[in-house]
Amino acid sequence: MAATDKPQKASASHSKHDRATWFQGSSWACPDVPQSNGSPWRLVLLGAPGVGKGTQAYLLNQRLKACHLSTGDLFRAASKAKECDQTPAMKAAMEYMRRGELVPDATVWEMVRERSACIRCAGGFVLDGFPRTLGQAELLKRLMASEGIPLTAVVNYELPLAEIVARLSGRRTCEKCKTVYHATERPPKVAGCCDRCDGKLFQREDDRPESIKVRLEAYERSTAPLIDFYRKSGLLMQVAAKGTPEDIFQRTVVELEPQRIGRFAQKLWDAAENRRE
Ligand code: AMP
Repeated sequence: MAATDKPQKASASHSKHDRATWFQGSSWACPDVPQSNGSPWRLVLLGAPGVGKGTQAYLLNQRLKACHLSTGDLFRAASKAKECDQTPAMKAAMEYMRRGELVPDATVWEMVRERSACIRCAGGFVLDGFPRTLGQAELLKRLMASEGIPLTAVVNYELPLAEIVARLSGRRTCEKCKTVYHATERPPKVAGCCDRCDGKLFQREDDRPESIKVRLEAYERSTAPLIDFYRKSGLLMQVAAKGTPEDIFQRTVVELEPQRIGRFAQKLWDAAENRRE
């Protein structure tokens, strides 16, 4: 992600997928900002909590190189900051999150706007968990229109309610690298320990039964209307979220294929136009 206004370099300890600008704000530069290839992928992932958006965003990042931008990750990172460093709005946001409720649009937008460099980034993005309300979708649309940046597609992951609840209640996350496991469906090799980095696995506070119910209600009330919003703009793609992460990823790639061909054709067209000039 690119940053503006003489950004500080992220520390040497940051790896290249560290999302420094997203986590630290626009005054931090990511160590490896991809060079523009003219048509970066700019995706929004939709779907109820637990459908696996975070895992798909990770896989899409590996394949398309577009950065994984999760607002949930931002709130979880903020909740670990020292109390004296948290603004009153952020402290209130933590309470909403703990209860499984949506954080108010104004707080979410403040955070995303502060990181608008990530939206402009030449490497593109995979937005996970944002937008989550019609208000947020309108704000994102306005920001992108003012920058002349188009969205490539919006992928909506679909899964029956019973499976969503089973996934959420068994989900375990690595506290270091954020890899997601499932207590019974996708357990780590060693119980409680991440296969990738040996980090400790934990259950998110909002994956407890009382919060799951609230989160699913919030999804139905506030986020599900975005499906129609993006269908009307012709950007929506529906993907069944059943099966392994790899199955779901393959389905996603198939859905995105026409976009890839369209983008390739556009590049050839642009090159031909340039030669004619
Ligand atoms: P997630 O990891 O995307 O499931 O997000 C975890 C929690 O963070 C949500 O249940 C909300 O409390 C909060 N949150 C994350 N993104 C948003 C958003 N775009 N709008 C409102 N609340 C959000």
